[in-house]
Amino acid sequence: MNRSSAFLNQSVALFGSQTQTLGNLFNGNEAEGKLDYNWNTNNRMFIEFNWDHNTDRFGPCSSNCARGFSNPDNDYFPNAQFNFVHTFSPTILNEFKLGYTQNNTQVGTNLPGVPFIAFTDSVTGFGSYNGYPQYFKDHEYSYGDMVSISHGNHSFKAGVDVQRNLENSLFSVARGSYEFTDPLWFAADTPEGQAAGVNPGFCTTLACDQYSSNPQGVLSPSIRHWRNWEVGAYFQDDWKITKRLTLNLGLRYDLLTWPTEASNHQSNFDPATAVYDHVIPARTPWSGLVRKGQSIRIVDSFGQQSADTLFYNAHNHAERYDAQATLAAQGSAYVTAGTTLLSNEGRALAVVTADTSGDHDTSAGACSCESNTVRFGHHTRYMHACRENFLVEVARHGMDKRDIVANINFFMNVPVLPNGDLAIVDGLSKPGDYVELRAEMDVLCVISNCPQVNNPCNGFDPTDLRVLIWDAS
Ligand SMILES: [Zn+2]
Repeated sequence: MNRSSAFLNQSVALFGSQTQTLGNLFNGNEAEGKLDYNWNTNNRMFIEFNWDHNTDRFGPCSSNCARGFSNPDNDYFPNAQFNFVHTFSPTILNEFKLGYTQNNTQVGTNLPGVPFIAFTDSVTGFGSYNGYPQYFKDHEYSYGDMVSISHGNHSFKAGVDVQRNLENSLFSVARGSYEFTDPLWFAADTPEGQAAGVNPGFCTTLACDQYSSNPQGVLSPSIRHWRNWEVGAYFQDDWKITKRLTLNLGLRYDLLTWPTEASNHQSNFDPATAVYDHVIPARTPWSGLVRKGQSIRIVDSFGQQSADTLFYNAHNHAERYDAQATLAAQGSAYVTAGTTLLSNEGRALAVVTADTSGDHDTSAGACSCESNTVRFGHHTRYMHACRENFLVEVARHGMDKRDIVANINFFMNVPVLPNGDLAIVDGLSKPGDYVELRAEMDVLCVISNCPQVNNPCNGFDPTDLRVLIWDAS
């Protein structure tokens, strides 16, 4: 923690109206305890604990802070260590260490409902930065052991370090962020750019293009549970060749594992290494072969776009996705990370290995011209629907309408209401959200990028999807 930053920030933000008489701006409390215990000459140990808590009523401020948009900051940094040194002989000793550090930082907003508004002509805007509130809570657990041996002119040290890092974070992008050329453009509701956030309806596609090609709302914050390991081993020799010359020789190996996401919200595949990368244009179908062990990622590039999806055994199309068997086996109404997609023969077609969005529907089926006319009126009879997309696409693989079964609607939000009704409501998915599946057999995947415009399943605005495939890692 940079202790001086909070002081500097308050003097910038408050035009000098804030004085010490109104109370402290920045509070810090720190406590430390240490216990040394020398059991005997061969065994020494200590335990140390440190507690540090800082609060700041104004927090990290932009110039908008001057208009009362402050970001109260609350940070905790507890840490503890245990150290045990055992002497085997006058020339050999062992040091064992255990440690724990927590970095817990919380930046809030005093007026959370206001979007972040900035002007490029340097007029002071308003609202807190749209990344606030944000919470980061890191736990770092470390273990280490080192053996020291003195032998003649040599002093050897060998050891291992292991660290486990757990980061739980909430990085909110739930509020909008709009940039306007000047206050006149603001009055005309015409932003120059939009970084993220809820779209109140005035951002045309053209105006959104600079920062995001997505003119749709972003409602859910990003909550992540990252995990990784750091492992190190070393050997070192201080070799005193003469009285005036010591050679330091050392070798160290460190391994930092890729972070994984504890709830399978995120995957580690790199789009650059995908063997297949394809954009499915809005309203159109797609199909592709995913071999056993390969992973397919379906990306909702612009958010709130339903991907109506079917899976078939690539070598026997009579074996296909079975929604009922899949739901019965998992005992839950939705498809999400961990779901095994079962076939009508009870075998695993694919497993959902990552899901940044959650709660995908597999009950409500695909839209068709027939269902559209029943739900929305006869004038929708001629609108293109998922069933037509499926018909076109399965025909390319020698199938017809008899082969179209109940599908999965990735990125479609269909809550089951208390009275048992199914509701189709605004999608949960943000731009860039994805679902990833590992094929458990060679499967044919068929997707209809849903063209529905009569209900909110596509945010009333069908957009592109993207499909990537990776070989088994
Ligand atoms: Zn549809």
